[in-house]
Amino acid sequence: MIPDRCTFCKGTLHEGKSEFMARVGDEVIIIKDVPAYICDRCGEAYYTADISRRIDVVMRDAHLGKIQCRPIAAGEVELVI
Ligand SMILES: [Zn+2]
Repeated sequence: MIPDRCTFCKGTLHEGKSEFMARVGDEVIIIKDVPAYICDRCGEAYYTADISRRIDVVMRDAHLGKIQCRPIAAGEVELVI
């Protein structure tokens, strides 16, 4: 369940929306607008058991190929030192 404080940095959690990102094979799936509790310090997102279950269902469908993952453009940059 949701801890009172962030387990990583002890920051305060605020209710909000998060993006859940996971790799499916060679593709990356992003579930948008996931209700979550987000740490105000490190940005770690915590999900309730119900939301985790819903994410699991989406991920299972994605792995089974039931959901078409849309390719997203990722910018590639070089670090200039
Ligand atoms: Zn944190």
